[in-house]
Amino acid sequence: MKRHAFSTAAFSGALLAAAAFASPAMAQEDEQFITIGTGGQTGVYYVVGQSVCRLVNRGSDEHNIRCNAPSTGGSVANINGIKSGELDMGVAQSDVQFQAYNGTGNFEGDAFEELRAVFRIHGEPLTLLARQDSGIETLDDLEGKRVNIGNPGSGQRNTMEVVMDAKGWERDTFSLVSELDAAEQAAALSDNNIDAMVYVVGHPNGSIQEATTTVDSRLIPLNDDDIQGIVDEYPYYSTSVIPGGLYKNNPDDVETFGVAATFVTSADASDDVVYETVKAVFDDFDRFKRLHPAFENLDAQDMVTQGLSAPLHDGAKRYYVEQGWIEE
Ligand code: GLU
Repeated sequence: MKRHAFSTAAFSGALLAAAAFASPAMAQEDEQFITIGTGGQTGVYYVVGQSVCRLVNRGSDEHNIRCNAPSTGGSVANINGIKSGELDMGVAQSDVQFQAYNGTGNFEGDAFEELRAVFRIHGEPLTLLARQDSGIETLDDLEGKRVNIGNPGSGQRNTMEVVMDAKGWERDTFSLVSELDAAEQAAALSDNNIDAMVYVVGHPNGSIQEATTTVDSRLIPLNDDDIQGIVDEYPYYSTSVIPGGLYKNNPDDVETFGVAATFVTSADASDDVVYETVKAVFDDFDRFKRLHPAFENLDAQDMVTQGLSAPLHDGAKRYYVEQGWIEE
């Protein structure tokens, strides 16, 4: 945790917030600033971070914690930021959490053993959206097309690489590979700079909404044998459905596979700060659930007992035991 000081030069939102909070008149001796890593501004992680901070900051007079949640590159960037100490907490896909903690996948040989789980959040299906005029109807139709595989640091990039491995695809399988940020890809699709975009994200979300309302585009199922193979092989992937009717011209359910969004931190984070953060969320849980439709069906006890692979942080555990959600 950072006290009165920010070293997060990479996160301009954080700096702005720090400037606002660091005036001598406001700063108190034991005030603590926490920074939560999120994702692109048109995704759901950004709303998670903003929502958690909103609830934490409502209680700042009592616990002296000030929270801010800048936009970041996504799951992998958040875990790396927590590891380097630039971020205190962050949102990360459950597959990325597993891989980072265990040192597998893109984290091979680089296990982050101090990674700690805090809670699980909403489900995130792998969402493949293609321009109607691209002729793409199945996953295999991506071959030879212009595909945005996601910025390095994002969860979709990480999961897309798992899909590409399963398919035996290389970058040159596609006629063009772009690495645009989540927030840029909808515009790239509608400007006809790419044929398809990939996003591992909760629904409904602003990015898919933006793309489907600005260009004729359809959600493509990911339900073939190779995808089933991924789901069978890895415990953190499961089949999933994007409900029909959420987006323009996409009336039918679409079968795909996905992960869960999770909230994570480091064992180095103070127990009291993590305790106050989860308390702020769960003491006011109905309010939290109203902050995004993807949170609507969340169940508190499920959130702390399912979909987590790193150990629970001690500060979070203290609160969950108090609530009777887990055993000591
Ligand atoms: N799952 C994406 C990632 O890990 C972010 C999704 C979102 O921002 O809601 O990068």
